[in-house]
Amino acid sequence: MNYNVDEKGYYGEFGGAYIPEMLYPNVEELRSKYLEIMDEPEFKSEFNQLLKDYVGRPSPLYFAKRLSEKYNTKIYLKREDLNHTGAHKINNTIGQILVAKRLGKKRIIAETGAGQHGVATATVCALMGLECIVYMGEIDIARQAPNVARMKMLGAEVRAALSGSRTLKDATNEAIRDWINNPVDTHYIIGSAIGPHPYPDMVTRFQSIISEEIKWQLKEKEGKENPDHVVACIGGGSNAAGTFYHFLHEPDVNIIAVEAAGKGIHSGHSAATSKLGKMGIIHGCKTLLMQTADGQITEPYSISAGLDYPGVGPMHAYLSTSSRAEFFSITDEDAMQAGLELCKLEGIIPAIESSHALSVFKERRFKPDDIVVICLSGRGDKDLNTYIEYFKL
Ligand SMILES: *Cc1c(COP(=O)(O)O)cnc(C)c1O
Repeated sequence: MNYNVDEKGYYGEFGGAYIPEMLYPNVEELRSKYLEIMDEPEFKSEFNQLLKDYVGRPSPLYFAKRLSEKYNTKIYLKREDLNHTGAHKINNTIGQILVAKRLGKKRIIAETGAGQHGVATATVCALMGLECIVYMGEIDIARQAPNVARMKMLGAEVRAALSGSRTLKDATNEAIRDWINNPVDTHYIIGSAIGPHPYPDMVTRFQSIISEEIKWQLKEKEGKENPDHVVACIGGGSNAAGTFYHFLHEPDVNIIAVEAAGKGIHSGHSAATSKLGKMGIIHGCKTLLMQTADGQITEPYSISAGLDYPGVGPMHAYLSTSSRAEFFSITDEDAMQAGLELCKLEGIIPAIESSHALSVFKERRFKPDDIVVICLSGRGDKDLNTYIEYFKL
């Protein structure tokens, strides 16, 4: 079995590039050049230097002693929460802006839901001195004010998407429209392992630094490169893709993906795509998608903004249908409790997205000798208000 993208841009039957004809030249330019660019020694050295000195990599692989004692297994946390800007997203935006520069682009556009990807994009645009326009649904602009302020401070222009439900998918439509109108000078930075080919593969490769580091860090600590289990939460699937990448073809490594069940898988307020999704097209790729019987995209729900997405990246759709990965769907309540538990046991306040991955211990038992590596995708500062309201702190 091959779990990487094939030459046509597919993972099994998922992926591809389902885009308006007018977008074809932009996507084709990227597709024909991304691997060559990423392979240049100068690109690699600039990318690695920035990951080291700007992002603060390598991120530690931390043995969580008290959490391990509680669940009677060996738990390591991959500390993406310690990265500059507080999560894994910066790995991808740094990679893409370096690609954009080599393609001669002067202007960057992005879409954002909760604003995390918008902030990561605005950050690298400031770093490189490129113009940055972030599309965001009007509703999201109102409910994510601190991230809107961050983007503005970083020099980005935030443009409101006023159509439809005025949330993420409408912002995506606006960004695509912008790209069609500005095909020559503009690069579109997509924020997860989603979008038309080559985006899912390109984003996965940039995020694969996570599993690359896990391998040598585990070798140092345990004398072997492969853990028994790798665990990550899935919104669109970029931190998970990066955490799984170097283990996809290692049969002794079990892969565990955790998605958001919101108020319950069948509550009508969920983002449990592996359970509820059907084949459909979103964001330019064919993948599992939550939709009505007549193909309208269902509005997703999760307490965590980063998992509040109606699809999953095509790689994850394939990992699910091929049973290469185990999928769990975690409710708001279980995730919030797991987040609070990490605070009390390890002194780490996790992002609520990451708290979903931490809930795996409620769902499944591990052996005492098992090594379980969990991607702690982000820190909880951005979620403080949600924690305060939920726990009445
Ligand atoms: C955005 C985000 C996610 C979800 O995005 P993926 O592309 O699925 O990784 C998860 N965790 C944090 C902290 C995020 O900011």
